[in-house]
Amino acid sequence: MTHNPISQKTFTRDDIDWVWVDLDDTIWDFKNNSWDALAMVYHEAGLDKAFNDVDSWRNIYLENNHRLWALYNSGAITKEFLMMERFRVILVNAGYSDTDARKLSPKLSDIYLDRLAAMSRLVPGALQLLNHLRDKDYHIGIISNGFYEVQYRKMQSSNITHYFETIVLSDDIGVNKPDVRIFNHAVAKAQTTSNRSIIIGDNPTTDIIGAINAGWNAICFNHNGCNESPTPTQAIEITHLDEALALLQ
Ligand SMILES: [Mg+2]
Repeated sequence: MTHNPISQKTFTRDDIDWVWVDLDDTIWDFKNNSWDALAMVYHEAGLDKAFNDVDSWRNIYLENNHRLWALYNSGAITKEFLMMERFRVILVNAGYSDTDARKLSPKLSDIYLDRLAAMSRLVPGALQLLNHLRDKDYHIGIISNGFYEVQYRKMQSSNITHYFETIVLSDDIGVNKPDVRIFNHAVAKAQTTSNRSIIIGDNPTTDIIGAINAGWNAICFNHNGCNESPTPTQAIEITHLDEALALLQ
């Protein structure tokens, strides 16, 4: 069931100058790319000694990582803590001593981020959307909470860097979505205004609430209706990126 009170609204180039897209799981297929990178970590680091099988490793990692990202997005923990802790906790739970877990975690983190950033899969419809926006002469920007070590490489690996005129990473300015300061920073950097900006993002609580609070227009990309949180009523909801083409004419 979708919640879509303003689904009929469309925008044109007369209304909007800048279309800002979230990167992970809006354009770049983080979910599937990460799933594959985690298997590489498992095999390269010999984690079969500690975990039953590769899927059990991946699911344990994902649950812990999800919990830590919610804390990171809210500013409760640092990036450095997250990067260590998402591996350390599950290694300790799998029987490693804390000392060994602390030694191994940075190595796993390096392997994971390196393999992840080399992946190139995009979300279905992403290239069509980017081409459409470029053909319609919209300016396109990235606004992402991802780490600078990997976000640029992900875009290079998937050959999409050239679409983006401006890239705003939370890592570069020290605050995460949904903090309105990152949205205000993006608008200032692009020399535009909040009401002439629109975000397309898959996370209602970071991308969408943040953008709305900053006075932006918002399209919430609810993949297959699977979002954990409801789409805010001020946003337009889509379940496939194809739908964004008709909304941005
Ligand atoms: Mg995302």
